[in-house]
Amino acid sequence: MSTSGLDRREAKFYATEGDKVRCSLCPHSCLIADKKRGLCGVRENRGGKLYSLIYGLASSIHPDPIEKKPLFHFLPGTTSLSFGSIGCNLFCRHCQNYSISRARFGDLDMTEVTPEDVVKMAQATGAKSVSWTYNEPIIWHEFTTTASKAVHEAGLKTNYVTNGYIQGEPLRELKGVIDAMNIDVKAFTESFYKEICGGRLKPVMDSCELAVEMGIHVELTYLIIPTKNDADEEIRGFCKWVVDSLGGQIPVHFSAFHPDYKLTNVSRTPTGTLSKAYEVAKKSGIDFVYVGNVYVGDEDDTFCPKCGTRVVDRDGFWVRSTNLEGGRCGKCGAELNMVV
Ligand code: SF4
Repeated sequence: MSTSGLDRREAKFYATEGDKVRCSLCPHSCLIADKKRGLCGVRENRGGKLYSLIYGLASSIHPDPIEKKPLFHFLPGTTSLSFGSIGCNLFCRHCQNYSISRARFGDLDMTEVTPEDVVKMAQATGAKSVSWTYNEPIIWHEFTTTASKAVHEAGLKTNYVTNGYIQGEPLRELKGVIDAMNIDVKAFTESFYKEICGGRLKPVMDSCELAVEMGIHVELTYLIIPTKNDADEEIRGFCKWVVDSLGGQIPVHFSAFHPDYKLTNVSRTPTGTLSKAYEVAKKSGIDFVYVGNVYVGDEDDTFCPKCGTRVVDRDGFWVRSTNLEGGRCGKCGAELNMVV
Protein backbone atom coordinates (compact mmCIF):
# COMPACT_ATOMS: atom_id res chain seq x y z
CA MET A 1 0.00 0.00 0.00
CA SER A 2 1.31 3.43 -0.91
CA THR A 3 0.98 6.09 1.77
CA SER A 4 0.83 8.98 -0.70
CA GLY A 5 -2.94 9.36 -0.94
CA LEU A 6 -3.55 8.82 2.74
CA ASP A 7 -3.87 11.47 5.37
CA ARG A 8 -1.17 10.23 7.68
CA ARG A 9 -0.52 12.12 10.91
CA GLU A 10 2.14 14.61 11.84
CA ALA A 11 4.48 12.88 14.23
CA LYS A 12 5.24 13.91 17.78
CA PHE A 13 8.73 14.27 19.21
CA TYR A 14 10.80 16.03 16.58
CA ALA A 15 12.51 19.38 15.98
CA THR A 16 13.71 21.10 12.81
CA GLU A 17 17.43 21.51 12.21
CA GLY A 18 17.91 23.64 9.09
CA ASP A 19 16.09 21.86 6.27
CA LYS A 20 16.19 18.57 8.18
CA VAL A 21 14.24 17.23 11.15
CA ARG A 22 15.57 15.43 14.22
CA CYS A 23 13.28 12.69 15.57
CA SER A 24 13.47 12.20 19.33
CA LEU A 25 11.11 9.25 19.71
CA CYS A 26 13.81 6.60 20.09
CA PRO A 27 17.51 6.67 20.99
CA HIS A 28 18.63 6.65 17.34
CA SER A 29 17.68 10.38 17.18
CA CYS A 30 17.60 10.24 13.38
CA LEU A 31 18.42 13.43 11.47
CA ILE A 32 16.14 13.16 8.44
CA ALA A 33 16.45 15.08 5.18
CA ASP A 34 13.39 16.22 3.21
CA LYS A 35 11.49 13.30 1.60
CA LYS A 36 13.61 10.78 3.55
CA ARG A 37 12.64 8.41 6.36
CA GLY A 38 14.20 7.52 9.68
CA LEU A 39 15.86 4.18 10.38
CA CYS A 40 12.52 2.63 11.35
CA GLY A 41 11.26 3.30 7.81
CA VAL A 42 7.88 4.68 8.91
CA ARG A 43 8.58 8.31 9.85
CA GLU A 44 9.17 10.70 6.96
CA ASN A 45 10.24 14.34 6.60
CA ARG A 46 7.82 16.07 4.25
CA GLY A 47 8.85 19.67 3.72
CA GLY A 48 10.18 20.14 7.25
CA LYS A 49 7.40 18.28 9.06
CA LEU A 50 7.82 14.74 10.34
CA TYR A 51 4.95 12.37 9.58
CA SER A 52 4.01 8.97 10.92
CA LEU A 53 3.25 6.93 7.81
CA ILE A 54 1.55 4.13 9.73
CA TYR A 55 -1.06 6.02 11.74
CA GLY A 56 -4.09 3.69 11.76
CA LEU A 57 -2.48 1.13 9.44
CA ALA A 58 -2.44 -2.44 10.76
CA SER A 59 -0.63 -5.34 9.11
CA SER A 60 -1.95 -7.92 11.58
CA ILE A 61 -4.98 -8.15 13.86
CA HIS A 62 -5.48 -11.30 15.91
CA PRO A 63 -7.03 -12.43 19.20
CA ASP A 64 -4.31 -14.11 21.29
CA PRO A 65 -4.13 -15.53 24.79
CA ILE A 66 -2.41 -12.86 26.90
CA GLU A 67 0.08 -15.56 27.91
CA LYS A 68 1.39 -15.54 24.31
CA LYS A 69 2.85 -12.02 24.70
CA PRO A 70 4.16 -13.36 27.16
CA LEU A 71 2.40 -11.64 30.06
CA PHE A 72 1.80 -14.18 32.85
CA HIS A 73 0.89 -11.73 35.64
CA PHE A 74 -1.54 -9.53 33.73
CA LEU A 75 -5.18 -10.62 33.37
CA PRO A 76 -4.25 -14.34 33.33
CA GLY A 77 -6.39 -16.63 31.21
CA THR A 78 -7.87 -13.80 29.12
CA THR A 79 -7.85 -12.89 25.42
CA SER A 80 -5.97 -9.85 24.16
CA LEU A 81 -6.82 -8.46 20.75
CA SER A 82 -3.43 -7.90 19.19
CA PHE A 83 -2.50 -5.31 16.60
CA GLY A 84 0.72 -4.83 14.65
CA SER A 85 1.80 -2.47 11.90
CA ILE A 86 5.11 -2.53 10.00
CA GLY A 87 8.66 -1.39 10.71
CA CYS A 88 11.07 -1.58 13.63
CA ASN A 89 13.76 0.59 15.19
CA LEU A 90 16.08 -2.34 15.91
CA PHE A 91 17.57 -4.66 13.30
CA CYS A 92 17.90 -8.00 15.04
CA ARG A 93 19.58 -10.60 12.87
CA HIS A 94 17.40 -13.28 14.52
CA CYS A 95 14.06 -11.42 14.19
CA GLN A 96 11.18 -13.90 14.28
CA ASN A 97 8.72 -11.37 12.82
CA TYR A 98 10.94 -10.02 10.03
CA SER A 99 8.19 -10.34 7.41
CA ILE A 100 6.43 -7.40 9.08
CA SER A 101 9.26 -5.68 10.96
CA ARG A 102 11.25 -5.32 7.74
CA ALA A 103 8.27 -4.94 5.38
CA ARG A 104 8.13 -1.93 3.09
CA PHE A 105 4.95 -0.17 2.03
CA GLY A 106 3.41 -2.30 -0.69
CA ASP A 107 4.78 -5.61 0.62
CA LEU A 108 1.75 -6.42 2.76
CA ASP A 109 -1.98 -5.82 2.74
CA MET A 110 -2.67 -3.22 5.42
CA THR A 111 -6.00 -2.59 7.11
CA GLU A 112 -6.99 0.98 7.99
CA VAL A 113 -8.36 1.18 11.53
CA THR A 114 -9.57 4.04 13.69
CA PRO A 115 -9.33 4.07 17.49
CA GLU A 116 -13.08 3.36 17.53
CA ASP A 117 -12.54 0.31 15.28
CA VAL A 118 -9.93 -0.98 17.72
CA VAL A 119 -12.42 -0.72 20.60
CA LYS A 120 -15.27 -2.34 18.66
CA MET A 121 -13.08 -5.22 17.45
CA ALA A 122 -11.75 -5.84 20.97
CA GLN A 123 -15.27 -5.88 22.41
CA ALA A 124 -16.50 -8.20 19.66
CA THR A 125 -13.82 -10.78 20.48
CA GLY A 126 -14.48 -10.61 24.22
CA ALA A 127 -10.92 -9.40 24.81
CA LYS A 128 -10.04 -7.88 28.16
CA SER A 129 -7.14 -5.93 26.68
CA VAL A 130 -5.56 -4.67 23.49
CA SER A 131 -1.94 -5.60 22.74
CA TRP A 132 0.35 -3.55 20.55
CA THR A 133 2.71 -6.21 19.29
CA TYR A 134 4.08 -8.15 16.26
CA ASN A 135 6.15 -5.15 15.12
CA GLU A 136 7.60 -2.50 17.44
CA PRO A 137 4.78 -0.42 19.01
CA ILE A 138 7.12 2.43 19.99
CA ILE A 139 7.42 3.58 16.37
CA TRP A 140 3.58 3.51 16.08
CA HIS A 141 3.38 5.91 19.05
CA GLU A 142 0.85 8.42 17.71
CA PHE A 143 -1.74 5.76 16.89
CA THR A 144 -1.12 3.37 19.80
CA THR A 145 -1.47 6.15 22.37
CA THR A 146 -4.60 7.66 20.79
CA ALA A 147 -6.27 4.27 20.39
CA SER A 148 -5.21 3.15 23.88
CA LYS A 149 -7.03 6.11 25.42
CA ALA A 150 -10.20 5.02 23.60
CA VAL A 151 -9.62 1.44 24.80
CA HIS A 152 -9.40 2.69 28.39
CA GLU A 153 -12.62 4.67 28.01
CA ALA A 154 -14.31 1.39 27.05
CA GLY A 155 -13.07 -0.22 30.28
CA LEU A 156 -10.41 -2.45 28.71
CA LYS A 157 -6.68 -2.53 29.41
CA THR A 158 -3.68 -2.07 27.13
CA ASN A 159 -0.20 -3.47 26.77
CA TYR A 160 2.98 -3.17 24.70
CA VAL A 161 5.23 -6.00 23.58
CA THR A 162 8.31 -3.93 23.03
CA ASN A 163 12.08 -3.72 22.67
CA GLY A 164 12.10 -0.79 25.11
CA TYR A 165 14.10 1.33 22.65
CA ILE A 166 12.43 4.65 23.43
CA GLN A 167 13.52 8.00 24.81
CA GLY A 168 12.39 9.14 28.27
CA GLU A 169 9.91 11.83 27.24
CA PRO A 170 7.74 9.66 24.96
CA LEU A 171 7.95 6.82 27.49
CA ARG A 172 6.61 9.16 30.19
CA GLU A 173 3.67 9.85 27.89
CA LEU A 174 2.65 6.19 28.27
CA LYS A 175 1.86 6.63 31.98
CA GLY A 176 -1.84 5.92 32.47
CA VAL A 177 -2.12 4.96 28.78
CA ILE A 178 -0.30 1.62 28.62
CA ASP A 179 -1.01 -0.66 31.58
CA ALA A 180 1.55 -3.39 30.99
CA MET A 181 4.68 -4.05 29.00
CA ASN A 182 6.64 -7.11 28.10
CA ILE A 183 10.08 -5.68 27.38
CA ASP A 184 12.70 -7.70 25.53
CA VAL A 185 16.12 -7.52 27.09
CA LYS A 186 17.89 -9.14 24.19
CA ALA A 187 21.23 -9.68 25.93
CA PHE A 188 23.20 -8.09 28.72
CA THR A 189 26.18 -6.79 26.73
CA GLU A 190 26.55 -3.66 24.63
CA SER A 191 28.45 -5.70 22.03
CA PHE A 192 25.40 -7.93 21.37
CA TYR A 193 23.11 -4.94 20.93
CA LYS A 194 25.60 -3.28 18.57
CA GLU A 195 26.47 -6.32 16.47
CA ILE A 196 23.19 -8.28 16.43
CA CYS A 197 20.53 -5.58 16.91
CA GLY A 198 21.98 -2.28 15.68
CA GLY A 199 21.21 -0.54 18.97
CA ARG A 200 22.40 -0.08 22.54
CA LEU A 201 21.65 -1.88 25.80
CA LYS A 202 21.78 1.11 28.19
CA PRO A 203 18.66 2.88 26.86
CA VAL A 204 16.72 -0.38 27.19
CA MET A 205 17.80 -0.73 30.83
CA ASP A 206 16.81 2.89 31.41
CA SER A 207 13.37 2.25 29.87
CA CYS A 208 12.78 -0.80 32.06
CA GLU A 209 13.68 1.17 35.18
CA LEU A 210 11.53 4.16 34.21
CA ALA A 211 8.54 2.00 33.26
CA VAL A 212 8.64 0.26 36.66
CA GLU A 213 9.04 3.63 38.42
CA MET A 214 6.02 4.94 36.49
CA GLY A 215 3.88 2.09 37.82
CA ILE A 216 3.51 0.20 34.53
CA HIS A 217 3.27 -3.55 35.06
CA VAL A 218 6.52 -4.85 33.55
CA GLU A 219 7.60 -8.36 32.59
CA LEU A 220 10.88 -9.11 30.84
CA THR A 221 11.77 -11.59 28.11
CA TYR A 222 15.35 -12.77 27.54
CA LEU A 223 15.74 -14.96 24.45
CA ILE A 224 18.77 -17.15 25.04
CA ILE A 225 20.89 -17.63 21.90
CA PRO A 226 23.67 -20.22 22.17
CA THR A 227 27.18 -18.67 22.07
CA LYS A 228 25.75 -15.14 21.69
CA ASN A 229 24.16 -14.19 25.03
CA ASP A 230 24.18 -17.39 27.11
CA ALA A 231 27.37 -16.97 29.18
CA ASP A 232 26.87 -17.74 32.88
CA GLU A 233 28.22 -14.37 33.99
CA GLU A 234 25.95 -12.55 31.52
CA ILE A 235 22.84 -14.30 32.81
CA ARG A 236 23.96 -13.68 36.41
CA GLY A 237 24.59 -10.01 35.62
CA PHE A 238 21.15 -9.67 34.05
CA CYS A 239 19.47 -11.28 37.07
CA LYS A 240 21.40 -9.12 39.53
CA TRP A 241 20.32 -5.98 37.66
CA VAL A 242 16.67 -7.13 37.73
CA VAL A 243 16.75 -7.65 41.48
CA ASP A 244 18.79 -4.53 42.30
CA SER A 245 17.14 -2.08 39.89
CA LEU A 246 13.63 -3.37 39.20
CA GLY A 247 12.84 -5.65 42.14
CA GLY A 248 12.63 -9.40 42.63
CA GLN A 249 8.88 -9.49 41.89
CA ILE A 250 9.35 -8.57 38.21
CA PRO A 251 8.45 -11.68 36.16
CA VAL A 252 11.26 -12.89 33.90
CA HIS A 253 10.73 -15.15 30.87
CA PHE A 254 13.69 -17.04 29.42
CA SER A 255 12.77 -18.23 25.97
CA ALA A 256 14.32 -20.58 23.45
CA PHE A 257 15.91 -19.41 20.22
CA HIS A 258 15.34 -21.13 16.89
CA PRO A 259 17.36 -20.26 13.77
CA ASP A 260 15.61 -17.55 11.76
CA TYR A 261 16.11 -14.64 9.32
CA LYS A 262 19.86 -13.86 9.18
CA LEU A 263 20.93 -15.97 12.16
CA THR A 264 20.58 -19.46 10.74
CA ASN A 265 24.04 -20.76 11.60
CA VAL A 266 23.33 -20.95 15.33
CA SER A 267 21.64 -23.98 16.86
CA ARG A 268 18.46 -24.03 18.96
CA THR A 269 18.75 -23.34 22.67
CA PRO A 270 19.27 -26.59 24.62
CA THR A 271 16.62 -27.17 27.28
CA GLY A 272 19.42 -27.54 29.84
CA THR A 273 20.57 -23.97 29.18
CA LEU A 274 17.07 -22.66 29.88
CA SER A 275 16.75 -24.71 33.07
CA LYS A 276 20.13 -23.43 34.24
CA ALA A 277 19.08 -19.81 33.65
CA TYR A 278 15.86 -20.54 35.55
CA GLU A 279 17.85 -21.77 38.56
CA VAL A 280 20.29 -18.83 38.41
CA ALA A 281 17.37 -16.37 38.36
CA LYS A 282 15.64 -18.09 41.28
CA LYS A 283 18.85 -18.14 43.32
CA SER A 284 19.39 -14.46 42.49
CA GLY A 285 16.11 -13.59 44.19
CA ILE A 286 13.70 -13.33 41.24
CA ASP A 287 10.38 -14.72 42.51
CA PHE A 288 8.64 -15.38 39.18
CA VAL A 289 10.76 -17.06 36.51
CA TYR A 290 9.42 -18.82 33.42
CA VAL A 291 10.80 -20.82 30.51
CA GLY A 292 9.13 -20.53 27.13
CA ASN A 293 9.18 -21.62 23.47
CA VAL A 294 9.91 -25.22 24.53
CA TYR A 295 8.04 -27.97 26.30
CA VAL A 296 8.74 -27.71 30.01
CA GLY A 297 7.39 -29.24 33.19
CA ASP A 298 6.62 -26.78 35.99
CA GLU A 299 8.66 -23.93 34.57
CA ASP A 300 5.63 -22.25 32.99
CA ASP A 301 3.59 -22.30 36.22
CA THR A 302 3.38 -19.63 38.92
CA PHE A 303 4.22 -20.61 42.47
CA CYS A 304 3.60 -18.50 45.54
CA PRO A 305 7.04 -17.34 46.74
CA LYS A 306 5.84 -17.49 50.36
CA CYS A 307 4.02 -20.82 50.76
CA GLY A 308 4.95 -22.62 47.51
CA THR A 309 1.35 -23.17 46.34
CA ARG A 310 0.92 -23.52 42.57
CA VAL A 311 -1.27 -20.45 42.01
CA VAL A 312 -1.46 -20.61 38.20
CA ASP A 313 -1.22 -23.94 36.39
CA ARG A 314 -0.44 -23.44 32.69
CA ASP A 315 -0.06 -25.65 29.67
CA GLY A 316 1.94 -23.48 27.32
CA PHE A 317 -0.20 -20.40 26.62
CA TRP A 318 -3.29 -21.92 28.24
CA VAL A 319 -4.30 -21.51 31.85
CA ARG A 320 -5.59 -24.82 33.26
CA SER A 321 -6.51 -23.53 36.71
CA THR A 322 -5.77 -20.77 39.19
CA ASN A 323 -5.69 -20.47 42.96
CA LEU A 324 -5.86 -16.68 43.30
CA GLU A 325 -7.78 -14.31 45.57
CA GLY A 326 -7.85 -10.86 44.02
CA GLY A 327 -4.41 -11.37 42.52
CA ARG A 328 -2.94 -12.73 45.76
CA CYS A 329 -2.12 -16.30 46.71
CA GLY A 330 -5.39 -18.14 47.30
CA LYS A 331 -3.83 -20.09 50.17
CA CYS A 332 -1.67 -17.66 52.18
CA GLY A 333 -2.64 -14.25 50.73
CA ALA A 334 0.91 -13.34 49.63
CA GLU A 335 1.42 -10.55 47.09
CA LEU A 336 2.18 -11.94 43.60
CA ASN A 337 2.60 -8.78 41.43
CA MET A 338 -0.47 -10.01 39.56
CA VAL A 339 -2.96 -7.70 37.78
CA VAL A 340 -6.38 -9.38 37.65
S1 SF4 B 1 11.54 6.42 15.81
FE1 SF4 B 1 12.35 6.02 13.74
S2 SF4 B 1 12.79 8.04 12.88
FE2 SF4 B 1 12.53 8.32 15.09
S3 SF4 B 1 14.63 8.21 15.93
FE3 SF4 B 1 13.76 6.15 16.03
S4 SF4 B 1 14.35 5.10 14.15
FE4 SF4 B 1 14.69 7.30 13.84
